Amino acid sequence: MNFQNPDKNGYYGDFGGAFVPEMLYPNVAELQEKYIQIIESEEFKAEFQDLLKNYVGRATPLYFAKNLSEKYQTQIYLKREDLNHTGAHKINNALGQALLAKKLGKHRIIAETGAGQHGVATATACALLGLECIVYMGEVDIARQSPNVARMKMLGATVIPATSGSKTLKDAVNEALRDWINNPATTHYIIGSVVGPHPFPDLVARFQSVISKEIKEQLNEKIGRENPDYLIACVGGGSNAAGTFYHYVNEQSVKIIAAEAGGLGVDSGKSAATTFLGTLGILHGSQSLVMQTEDGQVIEPHSISAGLDYPGIGPMHANLFRENRAEFFSINDDEALKSAFELTKIEGIIPALESAHALAVLDKKKFEKDDVVVICLSGRGDKDMETYLKHL
Ligand SMILES: *Cc1c(COP(=O)(O)O)cnc(C)c1O
Repeated sequence: MNFQNPDKNGYYGDFGGAFVPEMLYPNVAELQEKYIQIIESEEFKAEFQDLLKNYVGRATPLYFAKNLSEKYQTQIYLKREDLNHTGAHKINNALGQALLAKKLGKHRIIAETGAGQHGVATATACALLGLECIVYMGEVDIARQSPNVARMKMLGATVIPATSGSKTLKDAVNEALRDWINNPATTHYIIGSVVGPHPFPDLVARFQSVISKEIKEQLNEKIGRENPDYLIACVGGGSNAAGTFYHYVNEQSVKIIAAEAGGLGVDSGKSAATTFLGTLGILHGSQSLVMQTEDGQVIEPHSISAGLDYPGIGPMHANLFRENRAEFFSINDDEALKSAFELTKIEGIIPALESAHALAVLDKKKFEKDDVVVICLSGRGDKDMETYLKHL
């Protein structure tokens, strides 16, 4: 089985596809038709590579974490996505899609954001490339995430509150889709993870795949082989994980581990552990595992980390789970907090709460002394200081 890319209809096994209202067909079809040709062209690749290098600051280091390795008696390397401009992996995708939008002749960008991280990355890319930027955000989230709202505004974005429903991420998605239907010719919708209708999961995975491309080169340089024994990443929608796994998914000797947000515990009713709790359903334009009631109502997820607080999972990951290609761990809020404090104390790196879920796998699984374990540190923890201070 090819785990890396979907088939021509956008399916990874049983998962994926494009389930969109008829009014959106033209937009989605245009993207399906053109995305590969554009992003795989030499001209696009040169421009994107240049921005990744000189603007984002890539390649990000692959850091041998000596102290952490000693503690867990194994060889641990951290892929430092936290050192990217804007502090996480999300900028890789936002810049890629903003460039793609320009090639498609679109000058207006819409996005939706929950915690504001994707909104900030998108507003950043738009400022750089001279694109108009509109970010939909739930009214409740706007109140909760005021520093990121301020950043987006300073970057020139218009932040529009979504005032329907629970006034959170899913309502912001609905508003963004409505906007896209009304402005098909001028507008590109930058989706922030490997979710949404085909071709978004594949498009976003390709933009994030630079992560595993670099891991291969860097491991080769450091230890004389490209392949680690284990790769570990946290999964919200799954974009940092898709990037970390991308060039390895078809190499069976590399074991893959995904960390989901268990929230207060998978059985607590306050969780975001989609592979444990989800069933086949359609969410935001694709078929995947979804946390839903028996009659198909999406269940409100919970995680201490805003970036993992999502009731679905990208179709690529649903397939890795179904086919047992990846092992999934559910990490609870308190376990993630503990790992965040541990990394800070012994390595001097304050990780994002999302990334701390990946680190917490070290307490759940026993690795051999010689195992090479690469963990994606998807982002830095500045944005989570308020939460950390509460638990100091
Ligand atoms: C948004 C975010 C995530 C979760 O998103 P994925 O698409 O699953 O990667 C993880 N880590 C950080 C730092 C984030 O900002």
